[in-house]
Amino acid sequence: MKKIAMLNCLKANEVCTGAACFKAFNLKQKHFEMYKDEEIELAAYMRCNGCGKEPSKDDGMIEKIERLRKEGVEVVHVGVCTQNGAGEECKTITEIASMLEEKGIKVIRGTH
Ligand code: SF4
Repeated sequence: MKKIAMLNCLKANEVCTGAACFKAFNLKQKHFEMYKDEEIELAAYMRCNGCGKEPSKDDGMIEKIERLRKEGVEVVHVGVCTQNGAGEECKTITEIASMLEEKGIKVIRGTH
C-alpha cells in the first residue's frame, strides 16, 4: 500500500473544501491515474503555514514534514492552488517541496 499525502495553499482553505482533490484521489483520476494498478492510501492532507513564513526556519513545518516521514508517506501531490494565475508556483511551496525531497519523499505537481 503506497501512502500518499497532499499539500495545498492555506489561503485556498477559505474557499476550498478539498472535494476535487479527494474525488480525483478516490476515483484515481487526473494526477492519481498513475496509481490505477496500485493500492494507495491518503495518509495526510496538509497545507502550508501561510505567506511570509520561511519553511526551513518554521518549527511547525519541520514537524509536519517529519510526521509525514514517520507515517511512511512516499509521495506528496501538490495542488494547483499553490500556483498563481500565470502558473508560477509559490516560492514557499517550492521550498517545502525541496524539504520533502531531502527527506526522501517524492513530490508530484498536481492533484486534479
Ligand atoms: S505561502 Fe503560498 S501556498 Fe502558502 S498561503 Fe501563501 S500563497 Fe498560498
